[in-house]
Amino acid sequence: MTGRCCLCGAVGQVERHHVTGRLVRGGDYVDPALVIELCTACHTGRAGLHPALRAAGLDFPRPGVDLLGFRCRRLGVTERLIGAAGGVLVLGPASAIATGDLVCALADARAPRARGVA
Ligand SMILES: [Zn+2]
Ligand SMILES: [Zn+2]
Repeated sequence: MTGRCCLCGAVGQVERHHVTGRLVRGGDYVDPALVIELCTACHTGRAGLHPALRAAGLDFPRPGVDLLGFRCRRLGVTERLIGAAGGVLVLGPASAIATGDLVCALADARAPRARGVA
């Protein structure tokens, strides 16, 4: 698959990174539609996103952890890393919707409001 790496901006071969990850190694993705494109080096390389998430303790959610908070933290840490690297966060339509739904779910958990309002 070709595209543009969100972290380094290189155009060429990219891989899909699932921003909110999986519950367990080899398990299903928590938010399958929420993906960004990264080159292999920026994805799983030594200085890539996965080692950074691992270092931040965000590889997989610990048992009993609040999953909504975990997903939002992975999104936030990912966005910070992309910005700090001078990258550009590019979300396709499905990823943008999934991101919006995730942030709204957090907002609803913090400040419930009447349903049926956009
Ligand atoms: Zn890259
Ligand atoms: Zn990944």
